[in-house]
Amino acid sequence: MAGLREMFFPADCALCGKMLLSADEAFYGICSDCAKNFQPELVPRCSLCGKPLISEKERCMACREKPGTERAVPFAFDAAFVVFPYVGKYSELCKAYKFGRKKNISRFFALKLLEARLIAPFPREAATWAPVPPRAGKIKETGWDQVEEIAKIIEKSIDVQRCLRRLPSKSQKKLGKEKRLTNLKGKILCTGKPAKDMVLFDDVFTTGSTLSVCAEELKASGAEHVYGICLFYD
Ligand SMILES: [Zn+2]
Ligand SMILES: [Zn+2]
Repeated sequence: MAGLREMFFPADCALCGKMLLSADEAFYGICSDCAKNFQPELVPRCSLCGKPLISEKERCMACREKPGTERAVPFAFDAAFVVFPYVGKYSELCKAYKFGRKKNISRFFALKLLEARLIAPFPREAATWAPVPPRAGKIKETGWDQVEEIAKIIEKSIDVQRCLRRLPSKSQKKLGKEKRLTNLKGKILCTGKPAKDMVLFDDVFTTGSTLSVCAEELKASGAEHVYGICLFYD
């Protein structure tokens, strides 16, 4: 029995390595001392991408209108919320989850997304969530999709529609914002009928390009409003 228990309930905190003492700690894979540091900053945020503002007002520099460009705003989603900066303990936990395969952390991350929903700028009708689909071939290469693991937990509380598919495209990692957008254009397909108000969710928000292309596709398929929520911003 001890062996089985170990598989489902890890003994050590994914972040500090301390022994997990309660059933709750074991369930989430993180000790309560580390977990209590994971609170979103209650600071003024950009009304479009949700990143904390530094000295700007209302919108961050990246989300301002650019004269002469195709769109008045750089993104197709209506508003997004990003929970934690991708630095220090936050990025460490993300890496322990993704690369260290501490799968229990999916429960902790799902909890953090559901909590953040309460302070995110979404209207209450936006109750259908859609995971940002993984890069084509990713599951074959790595054996799992960490956003899907979070989706499985989230769908116990809210409606989740897996209506987006990603066709093969070059990795986004080394590309700038403009190139990321063109690289993904036409590579995300909506395979179902999305709800009127949708919330896209993902792990890391970097330039917002992936979220934006997904939002564009959902809107082209009939969604009226699309919001985004991501655990980390880079
Ligand atoms: Zn810990
Ligand atoms: Zn912004």
